[in-house]
Amino acid sequence: MIVIKKVKELTSIVGEKKKAGLSIGLVPTMGYLHEGHLTLAKKAREENDVVIMSIFVNPLQFGPNEDFESYPRDFERDQKLAEEAGVDILFAPEPNEMYPKPSMIVMNVVERTDRLCGEKRPGHFDGVVTVVTKLFHLAQPNRAYFGLKDAQQVAVINGLVESLNFPLEVIGVETVREENGLAKSSRNVYLTPTERQLAPHIYQALKAGRALAEQGEKDAEKVINETIAHLNEHTGAEIDYVELLSFPELTPVQTIKGQVILATAVKYSNARLIDNIIFECE
Ligand code: AMP
Repeated sequence: MIVIKKVKELTSIVGEKKKAGLSIGLVPTMGYLHEGHLTLAKKAREENDVVIMSIFVNPLQFGPNEDFESYPRDFERDQKLAEEAGVDILFAPEPNEMYPKPSMIVMNVVERTDRLCGEKRPGHFDGVVTVVTKLFHLAQPNRAYFGLKDAQQVAVINGLVESLNFPLEVIGVETVREENGLAKSSRNVYLTPTERQLAPHIYQALKAGRALAEQGEKDAEKVINETIAHLNEHTGAEIDYVELLSFPELTPVQTIKGQVILATAVKYSNARLIDNIIFECE
């Protein structure tokens, strides 16, 4: 595996790989790698000649009162894990390298962002599509891998690719969980021991909501209330949102029908966690 910090070096190597007719899989991450990231990398390994992983904590997608500074980082460990997962090129630029001067162009996502984290984190997805656009140009992937744990991100990236004609395929990968159901997340390290015991109930709450829908409850509000009740009773966290929307359009539904997403964000003392379930109802 080679580690690259400079844009010019990356474009030069990518140029060679392209010239040789090799396919490229890209896995964008913010590092502090866990089994979720590594599952994306392994899938990319299976499906492409060359695997590029980026590790970049993108300042543009963090709000002023969010955790950009304290976001966990461990580059040494990440290098080892990425190599073991079969990554060929690890691209880890500094913010100055990605954003050397103020941009003349500002991206603004106007659909699929008025709910969920898009509503709670204004500007977040503008920052995401900006960095992902740059990474797409630099890495020129045939396939790009994103986790469905961040389902709204997958919906937005699909919109980006469709709207701006990026010649690549977006692959959404199932959420990787701990045995107890807790979705793997770099931010889980900020849970206190007690919160760690309670946090698996986030997924249990989503499953309780889905179970109600699968038993035939069509009223979205009732399913949301069931989920909220479970979260309140068992997680000890403050609820940021619980929403039930169509997927991937992310529009509110009153009557559950077709493919929907039941999604939540909750706040513990030092970490805001998100999770979701996507399911289909007749
Ligand atoms: P992050 O470093 O949190 O920006 O995540 C990088 C990529 O890994 C994103 O596409 C995430 O959706 C994905 N990812 C993060 N956690 C998980 C997980 N538990 N299961 C699957 N994919 C994940």
